[in-house]
Order: sequence, then structure tokens, then C-alpha cells
Amino acid sequence: MALNLGGSRIAPVIRHVTGVGVVAHAAFVPLFLLLGQPLLAGFNGLSLVCWVAAHLVNGRGRSSLAMWLLVAEVVAHALLAVGLLGWASGFQYHLIPLVPFVLVNERLRGTSALVVSAAVLIVFLVLYELAPAPRLDPGVNHALSVANVVVAFVALALITFHFRNASIAVERQVAEMAVTDPLTGLFNRRHMHQRLREEESRAARTQLPFSVIIADIDHFKRVNDTAGHDAGDGVLRDLAQLLRDTLRTQDIVARWGGEEFLVVLPQTALKGALEVAERVRRAAEARLGRDLEGIDSVTLTLGAAEYAGSVAESLRLADVALYQGKEAGRNRVVAAPGASAVAASEA
Ligand code: GH3
Ligand code: MG
Ligand code: MG
Repeated sequence: MALNLGGSRIAPVIRHVTGVGVVAHAAFVPLFLLLGQPLLAGFNGLSLVCWVAAHLVNGRGRSSLAMWLLVAEVVAHALLAVGLLGWASGFQYHLIPLVPFVLVNERLRGTSALVVSAAVLIVFLVLYELAPAPRLDPGVNHALSVANVVVAFVALALITFHFRNASIAVERQVAEMAVTDPLTGLFNRRHMHQRLREEESRAARTQLPFSVIIADIDHFKRVNDTAGHDAGDGVLRDLAQLLRDTLRTQDIVARWGGEEFLVVLPQTALKGALEVAERVRRAAEARLGRDLEGIDSVTLTLGAAEYAGSVAESLRLADVALYQGKEAGRNRVVAAPGASAVAASEA
């Protein structure tokens, strides 16, 4: 999972908006020439350079510079076009999308963004008061102002839409990080507590049992000491993948502690849990640590317990079983004491 929370929301907004802006400005240059408006074509040529530059600097991580380039371009374009062609040409409408554009830039301080927004409003009002009489004929003005209103609306929508997407992506990332163990990508302990509570209330509602398995790597300290801490981390990641491969889709697995993993098996009695645990034990014995120098294999000891009236008691029972498995020589599955089943496997 890529951690990019310090990452930018303005950058994707600018990337998308400048993409459209470059194409639009480029398309309008020949159009204005065809309409016999070399002045407007000239404006657009200059604007095009500005938009391409903003796109490029944004791509190099300079999003605020890109933002200022675009703000300057849009303000200058509006001032020039309305100053020369009059209010009826509608170029002032391009100023309106600058307000959300500046406000969504998280790299700009809130007060600065508000001041820039207010300045844009002042430019708009000044143009309203001081714009000269229309210079183009009414037909051209009508077509231009319609096009300019459409452009302003499209720009507003694009800015807001891409900001929305970027915000949703960040929210999802945060939500995922809150439940994930960064090393293994499995659920973390905090999230597992919540899932256990959910299983508990489901068991109370349906009267169907569920089971828990605690799996602990045998002599993991030796793995670290022999092969190094990074190799140890690799074993933890491999074990996480092994658990994902071996468990059923309805099973829930979390990294519970350093080299300890907890599996919750919904709607599963102890017998089924012991079968699952044995499958995991065998897979680990066969697969883990094979690529490490000085280590033959890495094994697991697993304690399994059926829900025993409370989550805490069930976990305690599984832990007792795990401890018994360690005492008995490791690399084995042990059922919780008091349960009908006995040790399911011996190494
Ligand atoms: P046992 O068979 O009794 O479980 O022995 P053990 O060595 O596995 O158990 P112990 O609890 O004594 O040691 C656990 C080791 O796990 C010690 C600790 O350094 C290591 N460990 C815990 N978290 C991590 C981790 O994130 N990465 C690595 N590489 N090692 C870890
Ligand atoms: Mg251990
Ligand atoms: Mg341990």
C-alpha cells in the first residue's frame, strides 16, 4: 500500500484541468483565425504557452507555481479580453472557477486562498464597472459569451470533480491504513478486536459457534539471530501470504503481536478449527524459511479454542493451548483445555 498522505490533492486537479485547458486553448487559436479575430487568436496562443508551462511544472511537483501561473493567465486573459472587447464577450466568466481552484490548493494557507478569492471577485467587479462598449458585432458576442459561460461551468465541474476524487482516494487510504499492519498487510490488532466483537454478537444472535486460533512462530528469535532482522521480516510477510493462501475467504486473520497471528473462523466449531490449524501448520513447515541460509524450516505452534462465552476467555484459552504446544515441543496444534478434542497433531 503506497503511503502518500502528505501527497497532494491540487496536483491531480491541475494535471486534469491543464490537460483539458491546453487542448481547448489550442483548438480556439485556428477557430478565432477563421472567424477573422486575430487578436483573440493571439491571446489564446499566449495562454496556450502558459497552460503548457503550468502542466509541465505541475508534473515536476511544483503545483503551487502551476496554480499561480494559471491564476495569472486567467486574470490577464480576462482583463485583456474584456478590456478590449467589452463585457458582452463574456471572458470575465473564466474568473469564477478560479475561486474553487485556489481554495482546493492545500499547499496554500487558508487565509491566503481567501484573499486571492476576494481579489478575483474585485477584478470581476472592476471589469463590470469599467469594461468598454462592445467592440464585436452582436452575433459574435453572443456566440462568444455562450462559449465562455460553458467553459466556465466545465472548468468549475472539472476542478470540483477531480478534487472530490482525490479526497475520496485519500479517505480510502486512511481508512485502510487504520485497519492494516504495515509489515504484513494483514489486519492489525485494533481492527481484529472490532471483528471479534462482531463475531461475538453474531454468535449470540445465531447460536452458532466460532473459533479462534493463535499461531506463533517457533524460535523466531533464532531466525533473527541467524539470518538477520530483515530476513525475519521476510518470514513474517511470507507467513502472512501463506495464511491468505491457506485460509478460507470467510476467515479473518490479523497480526496479533510481533510473530503472533490470530485467526477468527466464523461459524466454525473446534473440530473445524483444528483442521484449519493443522493445514496452516503443515503449509508453514513445508514453505517457510526455505530460502534462508542456516535455517532448515520455520515452524508454527498453534492454539485453537471455540468461543467460550466471552472474547477474552476464548483468547485466554487459545493462549493456554499455544503455551502447552510450546511446552510439548512446538510445531504442533493444540486444542484449548477443557474442550472435548485433544491435541490434533504431533510433529
Ligand atoms: P518461541 O518458540 O517460544 O515462540 O520462541 P521465539 O523466539 O519465537 O519467541 P520470543 O517471544 O522469545 O521471541 C519473539 C521474537 O520475535 C523476538 C522479536 O525480536 C521477534 N520479533 C517480533 N516482532 C518482529 C518483527 O516485526 N520483525 C522481526 N524480524 N522480528 C520480530
Ligand atoms: Mg515465537
Ligand atoms: Mg511470541
